[in-house]
Amino acid sequence: MEIKNTEIQSEPVSRINDISGTNLSKCYQCGKCSAGCPMVQSMDILPNQIVRLAQLGKWEEVMRANTPWICAACMTCSVRCPRGIKIAEAIEAMRQVFLRNRNSDRRLGLSQEELVELPPIALISAYRKIAE
Ligand code: SF4
Ligand code: SF4
Repeated sequence: MEIKNTEIQSEPVSRINDISGTNLSKCYQCGKCSAGCPMVQSMDILPNQIVRLAQLGKWEEVMRANTPWICAACMTCSVRCPRGIKIAEAIEAMRQVFLRNRNSDRRLGLSQEELVELPPIALISAYRKIAE
């Protein structure tokens, strides 16, 4: 993934930091978060790469990634991070920003049968965010 320094913007990462109570700028790209993530095979951008994109203000690329929607909020990344970065919380903050801006066009693409098997907390959490 090529990232050009000329495209650096700081605003999105400060919003994510504020909401999540963490500091993504401390990330030094060791990759331990992604190495322990159980969902990486379904993600198009790895958790450490999402952190890097957010650091650089590459908000459009963060929004296009399926990573925030695939994340299961298992917290493994936050526990493994040697820099104490709350990555799971930051990814949750990304979801909140997308939904609050009404700029997510993500669709679950689930059948009715699959939908009813979702854990209730998933629907309650989604409804809370959408209703805000
Ligand atoms: S584990 Fe922490 S420091 Fe390492 S890449 Fe992930 S967020 Fe960055
Ligand atoms: S919280 Fe999300 S990104 Fe972090 S390890 Fe779990 S599934 Fe992966």
